[in-house]
Amino acid sequence: MKELIILGSTGSIGTQALEVARRDGYKVNALAAGSNIKLLEEQAREFKPSLVAVFDENAARELANNLKDTDIKVLSGVEGVCEAATVKGDIVLNAIVGIAGLKPTLAAIEASKDIALANKETLVTGGELVMKAASQKGVKILPVDSEHSAIFQSIQGAPENSIKKILLTASGGPFYKKTREELENVTVKEALNHPNWSMGAKITIDSASLMNKGLEVIEAVHLFGVKAKDIEVLVHRQSIVHSGVELSDGAVIAQLGTPDMRLPIQYALTYPERSNYAFEKLNLFDIGTLTFEKPDIKTFRCLALCIEAINRGGLAPTAVNGANEEAVKLFLDGKIKFLQIADLVEKALEECNNKKEFTIDDIFDADKKARELVRSAI
Ligand code: NDP
Repeated sequence: MKELIILGSTGSIGTQALEVARRDGYKVNALAAGSNIKLLEEQAREFKPSLVAVFDENAARELANNLKDTDIKVLSGVEGVCEAATVKGDIVLNAIVGIAGLKPTLAAIEASKDIALANKETLVTGGELVMKAASQKGVKILPVDSEHSAIFQSIQGAPENSIKKILLTASGGPFYKKTREELENVTVKEALNHPNWSMGAKITIDSASLMNKGLEVIEAVHLFGVKAKDIEVLVHRQSIVHSGVELSDGAVIAQLGTPDMRLPIQYALTYPERSNYAFEKLNLFDIGTLTFEKPDIKTFRCLALCIEAINRGGLAPTAVNGANEEAVKLFLDGKIKFLQIADLVEKALEECNNKKEFTIDDIFDADKKARELVRSAI
């Protein structure tokens, strides 16, 4: 049985990963979160890891005090989270939200751990560095994002270089078919009301703006070594076909299932094996109809902006990601309107001081500049 490290354990993906771990009896050696020490303490008492890390220093101090009666070591800050990524264990499931996941991913690769990657911002911002480091260390990057897991499942057994096209499905989110005028005054509550998936707040807003699909295009470019032009986004309202590929002989292979993140989480943990347990089975008779449409990228501009960013390459994807992270926070805090998210992402893309060769410090610098730009623009 593989031993796990779960980063972002208190979030939507993290808690579902622990559900899989609980059911299958995985040993969990480290946990990490941002600041939710109430849940982290419960998880630590249940799974008895050797180490827990909390990004927030004060929260970490409080947790250390609360866990005094145990042998669990408590660390803090980004260094603590990175150290959690390197303790004994076979696979690191990274379910941190945002660029905060990048350094822990690199730390895990450095420690030669395979990674079950939910944190798409890792690849959006540091895709080149991460894929290169993983290849040098012989580390597997196993996608947890449902679309990328579906693509990964679809190409098992496909010869190298046989992928002609990636078919990336999108639910269309809560604002499907809405016009710009209708989007002018949408509320946070409406944006958080996703029709098919229950997820953390940031990705739910990204799904409403189609930024999430744009980030996923960039993620797919890095994971599968394709160009953005070879990725077709299809709006598929039922969220049953989780994505697929067209191969060189014209065969289209896709993975279908109920919208349940526990399957891609489970597959990343059992790969290349399959679990004998299915959470919720798909009944195609109940679904009846599967539909596919082109996305409206004129209204949902974030998707087009991400494609433009990956085509420009270099630090452009980091700039759009950083601007989006900051803009989503402002939207959730009621400080900007929904449509301003795309305006701010576009501004960051246009003002990005791009370079093709870059280091990890350049990435964090570009991220910081994009966030400052967003804050100063409102
Ligand atoms: P949540 O907001 O639900 O959870 C985020 C997790 O990250 C929490 O555990 C949070 O801790 C932790 N965290 C935040 N900041 C830090 C930090 N600086 N250091 C360490 N931990 C931190 O997000 P989701 O679970 O929805 O998403 C996680 C990632 O997975 C995202 O990248 C998302 O795009 C991706 N993903 C999510 C899907 C889903 O269904 N939810 C589907 C596909 C991909 P705390 O609780 O203490 O704040």
